[in-house]
Amino acid sequence: KIKYELGMNELVYRPALNWSEFMLPKVMSGMLKVSVFTSLRKHVAKYFKDQRLRQLMEFPVLFLGATPQNTPALYSLMNYADMSLGTWYPMGGMGRIIDAMVKLAREEGVDLRTDSPVERILVEDGRAVGVRVNGEDLRADVVVAAADYHHAENLLAPEHRTYSDNYWKGRVMAPSSLLFYLGFDRELPRMEHHNLFFDEPLDQHAREIYDDPKWPTRPLLYTSCGT
Ligand SMILES: Cc1cc2nc3c(=O)[nH]c(=O)nc-3n(C[C@H](O)[C@H](O)[C@H](O)COP(=O)(O)OP(=O)(O)OC[C@H]3O[C@@H](n4cnc5c(N)ncnc54)[C@H](O)[C@@H]3O)c2cc1C
Repeated sequence: KIKYELGMNELVYRPALNWSEFMLPKVMSGMLKVSVFTSLRKHVAKYFKDQRLRQLMEFPVLFLGATPQNTPALYSLMNYADMSLGTWYPMGGMGRIIDAMVKLAREEGVDLRTDSPVERILVEDGRAVGVRVNGEDLRADVVVAAADYHHAENLLAPEHRTYSDNYWKGRVMAPSSLLFYLGFDRELPRMEHHNLFFDEPLDQHAREIYDDPKWPTRPLLYTSCGT
């Protein structure tokens, strides 16, 4: 709980433009209290002996794009969020959130255009002034690029990019995931909304997706059955 509160109240909402943002006495003393220098693996091993429980406690950090041995114990805040605050989901599936946002936006007069890949961000005098979509130039007072940073930068002409191709080549990208959307004509027995399968070794899976990236030979699966 202490970690969660420190994380949410003092860390998450800082823009992280500079280390000095985190050099506040409250943050520094909090950081020492929440075992930033211990790995999550060691932290979990202190409290749990059963291998299955250890895996359950370690699993959430895979979502951060790292293995439990390389993740600071601070991130057991994810376990607190999952188990104490609860795992929430919208009735009818995640699409219901999008439906609600679309409805609200339309009520407010927003013109939403789907199937409209931005091909280029237009720049004049060093300022983004619009986008090119399906060959058409659309001008705007403000351009918000909410896609992946590398992709969004490449929509700018090379002279307006902050980072070079070489910079991006040297970065380690978090892996994507392989998703299947399946439809069934009957209810599946014993399935919950969230189902994590721990039938394969977690360490091997983590190694194969993070340390030595390849298709996992024995992947761990997660399934979501919209409620
Ligand atoms: C399997 C999976 C499970 C996850 N589970 C959780 C979870 O339980 N809880 C949680 O908090 N997070 C979860 N996440 C992470 C979360 O989904 C992402 O962090 C979040 O969706 C990122 O939002 P975003 O708006 O930054 O980017 P995105 O959702 O990626 O949105 C970017 C949008 O930009 C569009 N776009 C890209 N390029 C262009 C272009 N040239 N022109 C026009 N449009 C473009 C894309 O189509 C996309 O719609 C999960 C992710 C995955 C893959």
